[in-house]
Amino acid sequence: MPAAEEEKEAEPVAGESAREESSPLAVASSTEAQTLRAEIIRVGRKLWERQYVDGNGGNISVRIGSRYVLCTPTLLSKGDLELADICLSDLEGKILAGERLCTSELLLHLEIYKANPRARAVVHCHPPYSTAFAITGSAPPNGLISEYEIFIGPAAVAPYETPGTQAFAETVLPYVQEHNTILLKNHGIVCWSDTVTHAEWLVEIMESCCKTYLIAKQLGQPLNFIPDNKIEEILALKRRMGLPDARFSHSPVPSSQPQGEIAGEMERLIGRVAARMALDDQD
Ligand SMILES: [Zn+2]
Repeated sequence: MPAAEEEKEAEPVAGESAREESSPLAVASSTEAQTLRAEIIRVGRKLWERQYVDGNGGNISVRIGSRYVLCTPTLLSKGDLELADICLSDLEGKILAGERLCTSELLLHLEIYKANPRARAVVHCHPPYSTAFAITGSAPPNGLISEYEIFIGPAAVAPYETPGTQAFAETVLPYVQEHNTILLKNHGIVCWSDTVTHAEWLVEIMESCCKTYLIAKQLGQPLNFIPDNKIEEILALKRRMGLPDARFSHSPVPSSQPQGEIAGEMERLIGRVAARMALDDQD
């Protein structure tokens, strides 16, 4: 439908309703869209500076309202993005605003959004240590690094398909409810979260875990695993924070909060999470 016709129907009302009823062009030029574009650009630079993307590889998207997605364009380095480069698409992949063609991996992002409404932002990239695991078809073991346990838990490994195809996009569907981080065999990684910034954090945490695990294995000493009862504490914390974890299906919800105080390590981790959230809010 032409934008002008839609705008005739849309009465400007406050908040979400106004955004839902606005024309694509009105959404694309909104203050919210500009703020999200700026966040995508910041995260794109982080990905490039951390060497998580190569050439024009990697892509970033974020939902705006229930009908639209802002996404990075194809054939641009994630280190060189500008506001005008970010495209607006609907959930079927139709580009509604923007000067460039959107990423060929938009299909992957859209499948995640359609399958899991909790996913509001998606980051896909090719960080070397995570991709090394993806080549082997395996994820690092659980129970070694607390940060990984809290924010990710078990990472899934999706089977290989040709990038850019619908078949590739659908490889993640069996995992996208219980896993916020999925290794893509012979390709890279995709993470979803509530914001673009938080989805990029998951990439950082996954990459750091893969790298640290490989270094630890070279030290020639036995690896110490976090005790099972402490993993249960982490799972309880994750439930309270609303983070997904594939282990929930094997770990019944406790009938009451654990008695006694949370261990010092958990207090420290909660403090770190809160501090990072606060820092993020100041960006
Ligand atoms: Zn890729």
